[in-house]
Amino acid sequence: MRISFFSFLTLLLIISVACTPKTQDIAKVNPAAVVDLPDKIEKIVKTEKEWKSQLSEQEYYVIRDKGTERPHTGELLNIKDAGVYTCKACGLPLFSSDTKYESGTGWPSYYEPIKKEYIKEDTDYDLGYARTEVMCARCEGHLGHVFNDGPKPTGLRYCINSVSLGFDKAEKSDDQP
Ligand SMILES: [Zn+2]
Repeated sequence: MRISFFSFLTLLLIISVACTPKTQDIAKVNPAAVVDLPDKIEKIVKTEKEWKSQLSEQEYYVIRDKGTERPHTGELLNIKDAGVYTCKACGLPLFSSDTKYESGTGWPSYYEPIKKEYIKEDTDYDLGYARTEVMCARCEGHLGHVFNDGPKPTGLRYCINSVSLGFDKAEKSDDQP
């Protein structure tokens, strides 16, 4: 039952993406980072008590309580190494270093997720106006927000709390031509 409901949601997502113009660039994903990643993911559900024991106080505040870390404090903000940024809570690969850029906001910023299916969006009004919250689609951990003032090719800015992310540095290999 749960699986069929999820399939239905996925279908809705596919339809909405297919029907929205201008998504071609947005839907385009970085091929280097998407090797063997399935579109469908099993949800991870834990009690708040379990999350609390797994996460640090600061991680819990941001990831589960939808808090925001202070700008310019994140450990991953200035990392420029090649690699994959993962969900700190469940390890799902979320962003590639290829799409990271310096936004000047003080938070790690990306113009595109590794897979759109791995990001869940919701609208929040915490600041009195509508913003699009982004979460990990697998564990629903809070990541940050997405805005429409990003660079090409998507025009999107995924403004992400460093504390919500882990980083898997790529194995050193020959640079691609
Ligand atoms: Zn997650």
